Amino acid sequence: MGKIIDGKKISEQMKEELKDKVEKLKAQGKKVTLAVVQVGDDPASSVYVNNKKKTCAYIGIGSLSYELSKEAKEEELLSLIEELNGREDVNGILVQLPLPPHMDEQKVIGAISPKKDVDGFHPFNVGALSIGQKGFVSCTPAGIIELLKRSCIEIEGKECVVIGRSNIVGKPMALLLLRENGTVTIAHSKTKNLKEIAKRADILIVAVGKAKMITKEYVKEGAVVIDVGIHRNEQNKLCGDVDYEDVFPICSALTPVPGGVGPMTIAMLMNNCVESVL
Ligand code: NDP
Repeated sequence: MGKIIDGKKISEQMKEELKDKVEKLKAQGKKVTLAVVQVGDDPASSVYVNNKKKTCAYIGIGSLSYELSKEAKEEELLSLIEELNGREDVNGILVQLPLPPHMDEQKVIGAISPKKDVDGFHPFNVGALSIGQKGFVSCTPAGIIELLKRSCIEIEGKECVVIGRSNIVGKPMALLLLRENGTVTIAHSKTKNLKEIAKRADILIVAVGKAKMITKEYVKEGAVVIDVGIHRNEQNKLCGDVDYEDVFPICSALTPVPGGVGPMTIAMLMNNCVESVL
């Protein structure tokens, strides 16, 4: 029988720890402030932005909100970023993605000062991760490492398979597992024999963006399975990339959706904000 990895509970523990840290920083006269920039009014983005602002308030992190219309010019966004880069009272800058199609996402990410890039998407921070140097790490994969560690799941020497190679999840995930001395395989849409490869995993991380794709045929008995996907099913309920009911009985641990990886992503964002001041 599988064990549920309770990301909600672990993220709440982290938030309490961060609250303490922020209070201690305040006592030293140091404030933590995150600038959140949203372009357009995509409803999903608005939900994410509001959650981030609410969590900031809970922990004691100040948040500044900037809303640009979906017709705003790229230069307008770039000049706002330049202004925020220069402000001493702003520690972290988050530009909510996706941006409207007329904006060049990579250019915008590249404009954020690497020292304020709390999402960990800037090429400087991505490069730092790949050569084992300190820097901000993408929040979702960083949150997964925290989930594994706090659930006392050893990574060192384990066969780790990551399905998905996106810049924000799959690739940094693989690098982080490697940093923790896992033996890492990355699979993607062109991978042959995916089932056999996935079945080698002691730790299987799934970030394919396909609802319930991973059934027990992809999972070794006793494996730890981390489900990054978020989808709405036919009943409008949230589900992941993993077929939970099918996989749960054979794995040793599994993250649910909702309540697994999702809450950790925000907790790690808050952690990165606090780190930006330390
Ligand atoms: P992307 O769509 O950017 O990447 C998906 C990856 O999966 C690609 O590398 C793709 O391969 C691979 N893939 C797609 N189909 C298959 C297949 N049939 N077999 C093997 N590999 C396949 O997604 P993201 O990484 O951004 O996100 C993945 C999921 O995680 C989504 O559901 C997203 O909503 C969710 N998510 C959740 C977060 C959270 O906080 N919980 C945060 C971020 C994302 P290729 O490169 O060859 O195209």
